[in-house]
Amino acid sequence: MDNKIKTKLIKSDKNNIWHPFTQMADWINNDPCEPLIIDKAKGSYLYDIDGKKYLDGISSLWVNLLGHRNPKIDKAIKKQIDKVSHTTFLGLTHSPAIMLAEKLISILPKNLKKIFYSDNGSTAVEVAIKMAYQYWQFKGEKRRFFFSLKNAYHGDTIGAVSVGGVDSFHSSFKSLLFKSYFAMSPYCYRCAYRKKEITFPLNAKDFRDHNSKVGCKGECIRQVKDIISKNHKTIAAAIIEPLNQAASGMLVMPKGYLKEYANICKRYDVLLICDEVATGFGRTGKMFAVEHEDVNPDFMCLSKGITGGYLPLAVTATTDEIYNAFLGKYEEFKTFFHGHSYTANPLACAAANATLDILKKDNILIKLQPKIKYLEKELAHLSKHKKVGNIRHCGLMVGIEIVEDKKTSKSYDYKLKLGARVCTSMRNKGVIIRNLGDTLVLFLPLTITKKEISKIVTTVKEEISCL
Ligand SMILES: *Cc1c(COP(=O)(O)O)cnc(C)c1O
Repeated sequence: MDNKIKTKLIKSDKNNIWHPFTQMADWINNDPCEPLIIDKAKGSYLYDIDGKKYLDGISSLWVNLLGHRNPKIDKAIKKQIDKVSHTTFLGLTHSPAIMLAEKLISILPKNLKKIFYSDNGSTAVEVAIKMAYQYWQFKGEKRRFFFSLKNAYHGDTIGAVSVGGVDSFHSSFKSLLFKSYFAMSPYCYRCAYRKKEITFPLNAKDFRDHNSKVGCKGECIRQVKDIISKNHKTIAAAIIEPLNQAASGMLVMPKGYLKEYANICKRYDVLLICDEVATGFGRTGKMFAVEHEDVNPDFMCLSKGITGGYLPLAVTATTDEIYNAFLGKYEEFKTFFHGHSYTANPLACAAANATLDILKKDNILIKLQPKIKYLEKELAHLSKHKKVGNIRHCGLMVGIEIVEDKKTSKSYDYKLKLGARVCTSMRNKGVIIRNLGDTLVLFLPLTITKKEISKIVTTVKEEISCL
């Protein structure tokens, strides 16, 4: 690429664009590095406009599922373009969306029978929140509040922020939000209640038996029980990212936590929303994270990987019980008055249909298992490194928490922006990952190879050895 053209593009970007989750003063000053212009992609790789190749170690922010330019998904979208690219879903329907709903219902937990479409993860959560809230009105109960966890992330719209528990993202908007209850996050590595000699994860029995000898006394799950048992008459729904609080640093829950959480909701008749926007479609090693602990939520939110990471699409799946409560004569105003211009976009549905076909026909989940084992082995080596405080992983999702002092778990001064610096030097070596504070995040596509896994982990090791 001609250097003049590149300079012009970067200048134009800086003049006209406001990037998401980005301190633009840093961006303008090339801190920590000059903007990278991506030109094309193939498989696990991105290419910049100079033709330099980068391993996409975060699946283009957790969306890409089966590699870039997957021939079958490319073909499905092109075929759909020749029919219709978009038509409204209000009062009309189309076969890509009809086929997709059928396929989804066949793989979702058995109790989820109805598919409501929208176009991103945040809206999938908004829809679940509004449905749950209105459901209780139809039942004649006043349930105005929601229940969530500290460190939870459910998107950036105001409803999703109201159930969000990441202070750095959410606290400025506090007075705008509706009320939610929060229990502590099951972040074992930095849990104040943890006794030194206890190793995690705890098993399911330990959690049920949490008044006992396990050391941590299961304070995290005790808080869930405490808050829900005291306030269940006012709580419309509890929301959780099953198995992994991803956006706050891949905080993988101890085994059994999710099941216990779901049991508490059931016991107190609080609706359960499982936000599988990040964890869905095989990223945990099973199709959905809830399958690991045999949980059947009342709502499931899906997006990110659903189109293979090609186009915006989201789903809120729910039960017949919820759906039926909204049925009635038009003049009863029980209609769910919610929808978006691009609801169930046909191109996105075509991409999603192709993605689900590939997952099934190519036995992607079966082929994935040895790769996950391999990744775990590589991470076990890495965890011995003196700068690695804690490695959390769940399927293809990994958080590597870097610390100044391994013994005391002391973090680096946040002003050093250590995580961002490591990511920048990795980029110079041809591997793109992102950090959440001092936690390095890997979020791998299902089609990653062992060789590519090894390259990413080795590059992490090289870079943290320079600290
Ligand atoms: C990314 C994410 C969202 C938000 O999805 P967007 O499409 O970015 O709005 C919601 N919940 C979880 C768990 C996510 O990881």
